Amino acid sequence: MEKCIETSDVARCSVPECVYNRSARCYAGAITVGSGDLPECDTFHTANDRVPPRPHTAGVGACKSNECRYNDDYECTAERVYIGWVDDFHFIGCLTYAQTAR
Ligand code: SF4
Ligand code: SF4
Repeated sequence: MEKCIETSDVARCSVPECVYNRSARCYAGAITVGSGDLPECDTFHTANDRVPPRPHTAGVGACKSNECRYNDDYECTAERVYIGWVDDFHFIGCLTYAQTAR
């Protein structure tokens, strides 16, 4: 089925432990980014099984990190985002995050 809503693509995710991850691609329907003050991947989940590869990889459905320069009304406007471990394995989050100049 064609995606009819433009979302930022999750181009790569380097977290193989996640149930949605296959060969560094994310096969969640969409991900939510942002938890508290951090641009975490809120969709990260572990389980014994894995989702099968799907015709489409994930987009960013919503992002709560509104201090990021790509954030517009809690949606991501970056063309693509990269997800992985941040700050020496402190959390799994958006590597494309960039603070707005203040
Ligand atoms: S982007 Fe998030 S939900 Fe998708 S595979 Fe990576 S950690 Fe999992
Ligand atoms: S680039 Fe910015 S707005 Fe887009 S998902 Fe990452 S933290 Fe959110």
